[in-house]
Amino acid sequence: MARQVKRLYKNHCQVCNEVIPGLDGRTYSEGAHVKPLGRPHLGGDVLDNMLCLCPNHHTQLDIGGMVILDDMSVVDTLTKAQFATLRFTGAHRLDPRNAEYHRSLWAPLGNETII
Ligand SMILES: [Zn+2]
Repeated sequence: MARQVKRLYKNHCQVCNEVIPGLDGRTYSEGAHVKPLGRPHLGGDVLDNMLCLCPNHHTQLDIGGMVILDDMSVVDTLTKAQFATLRFTGAHRLDPRNAEYHRSLWAPLGNETII
């Protein structure tokens, strides 16, 4: 599924549109699960739970440095500033319930005002 979302966006980050080129002509990105896989989260390995991200934004998502609002805008949880809107292509969508779940993981850290 990660391969599929990365192919869909040709390795362009859905947050910043960056693509990381390699010397061999290939590009690099990461498939990110918004609702984490595994217990206790049990997020799905499905396209509507996945984003194509650069390593920085993947990490920022995973450590709660950013959250995604229902309108698919992206908010920095430290500054509370909206700094991007997710780019989507074709029929790919993020299920807002997965973004809501991700926000709920980080709300106890004092980010209630942005969600
Ligand atoms: Zn990025």
